[in-house]
Amino acid sequence: MVRFSGVTKRYGDLTVLDNLDLDVAPQEKVAIIGPSGSGKTTVLRMLMTLEPIDEGVIYVDGKPLTHMESNGGLVRANEKYLRSVRGNIGMVFQHFNLFPHMTVLRNCTEAPINVLGLSKAEAEERAVELLELVGLGDKLGEYPQRLSGGQKQRVAIARALAMRPKVMLFDEVTSALDPELVGEVLNAIRMLGKQFQLTMLMVTHQMGFAKEFADRVCFFYEGKIHEEGPPEEIFNSPKRERTHQFLSAVL
Ligand code: ATP
Repeated sequence: MVRFSGVTKRYGDLTVLDNLDLDVAPQEKVAIIGPSGSGKTTVLRMLMTLEPIDEGVIYVDGKPLTHMESNGGLVRANEKYLRSVRGNIGMVFQHFNLFPHMTVLRNCTEAPINVLGLSKAEAEERAVELLELVGLGDKLGEYPQRLSGGQKQRVAIARALAMRPKVMLFDEVTSALDPELVGEVLNAIRMLGKQFQLTMLMVTHQMGFAKEFADRVCFFYEGKIHEEGPPEEIFNSPKRERTHQFLSAVL
């Protein structure tokens, strides 16, 4: 569903992703862990085409995301093409990024109406269903500033899902939350992942969640996947010294 093939990203002299290969199967849930600065967020940003890559190709659902096929070869994709492929991907950020002047319901209907062309009634039906699923059916008319962090994050998740993406990206979505609100957000992610058969990539510092939820854990170090495997293997018996060191420090 998602494939990074030889992807390199540099900022000046700094190589942030170094010839990265990563294959994520449909409906697979991959947790991305690693020290600060190892390139975890950059992986998600590249997938969202928020910035160009320097080398390599990223594929989403078999289509090259960064390039398009032309005359038998690959050329860099234009903005219109990128937008169409990007429609398969939803992202939730650490800092919710809700529209503050819109109600919870409108936060979730705005893009389906304006980007997907749904009628107001269709978009509202879809949004209400998602907001009920994440336990916010009684907050439809509320404005974001009157919600808790956990509630805001659940709105952000419902909003992303209202676009019916196949792939969901989560970037440290619980980092800005009070500890007692983390569980409700992780529960929402868990439940929606099952319900919508999503492929998920999540950058997380919640090792407990990664262990329980992910099919595969990728430990990033210096722009590469230093070690990867099923959670029980990575957390219980990491093979490489740097992985062991990192886990000893955070667990
Ligand atoms: P953290 O856990 O702290 O969020 P991370 O593993 O997600 O770290 P990235 O955010 O992917 O790391 O950043 C990787 C490296 O790229 C860092 O050294 C960062 O300073 C650098 N970097 C990221 N974005 C830019 C940018 N726009 N310009 C220059 N350097 C950048």
